[in-house]
Amino acid sequence: MSILITNIKELIQVRDTNVTIVKGSDMKTLPVIKNAYLFIEHDTIVEYGSMDDYQDIDADEVIDATGKVVMPSWCDSHTHIVYAGNRVREFVDRINGLSYEEIANNGGGILNSAEKLQNTSEEELYQQSLKRLNEVIKLGTGTVEIKSGYGLTVDAELKMLRVIKRLKRESLAFIKPTLLGAHAVPKEYSNNKSAYVDLVVNELIPKATEEHLAEYIDVFCEKGYFDLDDTEKILKAGVAHGLKPKIHVNQFNAFGGVALGVKYDALSVDHLEEMNKEDIEALKNSNTMPVALPSCSYFLSIPYTPARQMIDAGLPLALATDYNPGSTPSGNMNFVVSTACIKMKMTPEEAINAATINGAYAMGLSNMYGSICRGKKANVIITKEIPNYQFIPYAFGENLIDEVIINGIRLD
Ligand SMILES: [Zn+2]
Repeated sequence: MSILITNIKELIQVRDTNVTIVKGSDMKTLPVIKNAYLFIEHDTIVEYGSMDDYQDIDADEVIDATGKVVMPSWCDSHTHIVYAGNRVREFVDRINGLSYEEIANNGGGILNSAEKLQNTSEEELYQQSLKRLNEVIKLGTGTVEIKSGYGLTVDAELKMLRVIKRLKRESLAFIKPTLLGAHAVPKEYSNNKSAYVDLVVNELIPKATEEHLAEYIDVFCEKGYFDLDDTEKILKAGVAHGLKPKIHVNQFNAFGGVALGVKYDALSVDHLEEMNKEDIEALKNSNTMPVALPSCSYFLSIPYTPARQMIDAGLPLALATDYNPGSTPSGNMNFVVSTACIKMKMTPEEAINAATINGAYAMGLSNMYGSICRGKKANVIITKEIPNYQFIPYAFGENLIDEVIINGIRLD
């Protein structure tokens, strides 16, 4: 099976060499070929170039992309796409000014999501999650990280991870699984958090890794949730079992979580709405990707990650959705990219780099995904007819995607 795309108005994020991360001022550069072609064989990008240099290629299917932009699929490195039900009631309650306690009593909060998930069968959980995943694929996402964390018992966490494994097996999207046992302290442990941390360390991590259900270890490192000591215990145990850290830090408070992540060579540190000088220093000369989640800031009306300050300090930055029922009930990377430009003052070039190559890096996938490069996987977005690629973040809230190709397969 081969696909030839011709007359592409702009083929963007073209990299002749396999760039796997883009940092600082390099993020301002987004390589483009105007009036281009792209040739895909099976699941791989084989050739591309200017139509001026095009020589006849025999392909099973030809797509005429006159007036359209072609780019690599979005790489969403932070989601909680596996969950049961929704929290729309909480959304309305919050608008109406209900207290935290009243919201919790009406079925809001992580603990209520956990109860709902515990009472949902594995099959039902899979079906609900698959539907969401298929929706985000249509919106141009080709690689997705998915976390556990709404189980909060050993059994329910393993159930979530098995659902993620099944999605990974059966979906066209490439999926990376993360164990987030320490997402919240379950009710039964509210007066004995350390016993829950012990459960995560001594039971959950060993069982999840024995069944090969996770690649990454995550912790919600935040005041009122898991402190630096708890986080360190869990990261240490995860690393000892072969998991790489990818952690939630600095959403509401900055107290050293970033440096702790770097100390354990975290693949990414995510959220970062509150950043101080020490956090930025800690990330310099590290292998850790900072990840911003602007849809979450938008939905909760909290500060945005200070992208300008971080990129201007020479750091890389990735963008992801944080798709989850409580704080970001949206998995739309197009909206994330727009919001990053509008609210975080990232240029379209920076935002697209952050949502493709750097997002792939934050899942350990940037050698195979995130750019138009010979030998990389054929995950591409073909837009509708638009003036140029800057139009993608500009026309926020519009669906500009005409067609998605994932692993060399055209979705209808
Ligand atoms: Zn999250």
